[in-house]
Amino acid sequence: MKSGKSILNKSSIYDSTNRRFVERPSGSRRPGAKDAARRVRELSEKIREHDHKYYTLSTPTISDFEYDALMRELTELEARYPELKLPDSPTQRVGGQPTKEFPAVTHSVPMLSLANTYSEEELVDFDRRVGSLLRNEPYRYVAELKIDGVAINLKYENGMLIQGATRGDGAQGDEITNNLRTIRSIPLRCASAPGGLLDFEVRGEIFIQKKDFQKMNEERELAGEKLFVNARNSTSGTLKLQNPKIVASRRLNMFSYFLRSDNVELKSHYENLRLLRKMGFVVNEHIRLCNTIRDVKTYCDEWEERREDLSYDIDGVVVKVDSLRQQETLGAVAKSPRWAIAYKFPAQKVETKLRGITLQVGRVGTITPVAELEPVFVGGTTVSRATLHNEDYISELDLRVGDTVVVEKGGDVIPKVSAVNLAKREKGSKPFVMPKQCPECDSKIFRPEGEAAYYCENSECPAQVRGRIEHFAHRGAMDIEGLGEAAIDLLVKENLIHNIADIYSLKKSQIVPLERMGEKSAQNLIDALELSKKQPFHKVLFGLGIRYVGSGVAKLLADSFGSIEKLSNATQAELEGVEGIGPRIAESVVRFFNERHTRELVRRLQQSGVTLKSEKKKSSAQPYSGKSFVLTGGLESMTRDEAKEKIESLGGTVTSSVSAKTDFVVVGSDAGSKLDKAVELGVKTLDENAFRTMIGED
Ligand code: NAD
Repeated sequence: MKSGKSILNKSSIYDSTNRRFVERPSGSRRPGAKDAARRVRELSEKIREHDHKYYTLSTPTISDFEYDALMRELTELEARYPELKLPDSPTQRVGGQPTKEFPAVTHSVPMLSLANTYSEEELVDFDRRVGSLLRNEPYRYVAELKIDGVAINLKYENGMLIQGATRGDGAQGDEITNNLRTIRSIPLRCASAPGGLLDFEVRGEIFIQKKDFQKMNEERELAGEKLFVNARNSTSGTLKLQNPKIVASRRLNMFSYFLRSDNVELKSHYENLRLLRKMGFVVNEHIRLCNTIRDVKTYCDEWEERREDLSYDIDGVVVKVDSLRQQETLGAVAKSPRWAIAYKFPAQKVETKLRGITLQVGRVGTITPVAELEPVFVGGTTVSRATLHNEDYISELDLRVGDTVVVEKGGDVIPKVSAVNLAKREKGSKPFVMPKQCPECDSKIFRPEGEAAYYCENSECPAQVRGRIEHFAHRGAMDIEGLGEAAIDLLVKENLIHNIADIYSLKKSQIVPLERMGEKSAQNLIDALELSKKQPFHKVLFGLGIRYVGSGVAKLLADSFGSIEKLSNATQAELEGVEGIGPRIAESVVRFFNERHTRELVRRLQQSGVTLKSEKKKSSAQPYSGKSFVLTGGLESMTRDEAKEKIESLGGTVTSSVSAKTDFVVVGSDAGSKLDKAVELGVKTLDENAFRTMIGED
């Protein structure tokens, strides 16, 4: 937080093209009530989707900065149009949800989120609000590092740990005591504190050290498993594991930052932290008492500068009013206390040289330009490559080889080249021109009309072959353990496999002599291949990597056609007849099955015993066979995926848009435009209760 360098201010808006906050142009039009209502719906839906990816799946697809920008826009719109603020708006609720995998625990005191800011001005505003609500009585702050991990609550009775839970939706979390017991910085029995403090609750952050995270990902890479995006997500993924032994092997830690007791009177947060230390909990060593907001700012500046020196990730500073009495006076709004704020560090930016632009070829032939950078340390890692997405991205930035470019990276974000320093541009530099040939196989590359990407026209291109096998083997498809990028590279290099079907012809004797393999790994791979043959048809279909056929479409196709034989003979019109399949997907499927190699591939997979038929569903349990459902808004009692699974298990299909062919629209809270469409078309709508009754849940 360098003074005058605030990233956000109250009149900032998010420029999604350039992915940054900019000053709101003076006199710029504010949306009218109708536009605002639509935007509120859009934002709410987007935020819910990202909450699900972040909290439930542990695989976020946007940076925290971008997420916070969406939340901020929604908060501002709701402030301007209070009638649009619904009780279940994402601004009013803690983002996570308890899962169904663990017993639910109701927190004795809600576990709230924190208001956050990226700007110095807003920190001062926060201080002003605190001062005025406390009617100018003296107060002080505790500044703490904001550990980038997962919040949990521990309950102790008689000095013994009896329960540990995640935050969940703030009111209810998952009971994960057995997993938490494996963490050494959590005392199972704790030393009594002065005043006989024996029954109490402690909150804190579970995290993993940077080096352990790196090691874990290296091991996963070797084993061909999917890598974790960042340390926070690996921690939250680990806590959701059902096997405490694996949790124990992951070297998790906890910093405690909150103590609560009904029996003993506690007065100061800072004193509580010291007490926690005496009781055997690990409290972060860098906590600091600050008498003024200026001291807090100094602390923020210091840690923004020094964050890389730490052995764990932090994403900001948490500022809390010290006096517990004053905390109570200040109270809370919606989902965050008024006595605390999180100051978040902006993404870090550095300059480096663009040494070159290379092209990477994906499994469907997509050509992605990649920036080859002079290695530079930013956001906790050394960055030497960054995607440039496509030709347009390069020309919009006017990137030229030899340029000095700005590279940005937040702790948890994929690095990106965000700008060029034109003042440092060398004379004679030339704009980038997209090559005409594929860098892997020299075939022609082309850019279809209306698309941003180029494609290699040769489906036998070695890069595509490797990519296709990787996709087939990965967890979401055939889930073949041990067949990761490194193993596939090796097998292709040794000429042992040339396409997907070849993997099922591999013999143990061919694998044993390979580098880093040996008896045991070879046997494991053969076993994993054998096991993968039992994967259901829709996973195989997804694994085939047909363009536009993601896992959802694959399921739809598998359910509608039942076998690869029927699907491969389906005409464009028959495919388009399936609700949810449009002309683009239909055309792609027809083209795929007409390809020279596809029929041969299917024949060989069939011969190997891979599942190429859907399991027959029992007709007695299929009351909604042929009925199509659309889900809109959030359901209280189940996630969207669970609702979808339930509908499908009863024979129905779930599609994403409402049409006259839709039979039912299930309407959850804060339903979007799909509800309007259903009403307009006269499609039957079901509220959550009616839906639960219909699927036999009530
Ligand atoms: P938060 O991360 O902004 O702050 C609250 C959390 O801070 C607490 O629950 C606790 O886990 C943590 N914390 C760390 N150190 C602490 C300390 N010393 N004292 C107190 N708390 C401490 O809020 P949140 O509700 O956990 O998450 C919301 C944030 O998560 C968003 O602002 C966004 O940045 C991120 N998010 C990102 C995505 C995405 O897709 N990228 C999606 C959802 C949420």
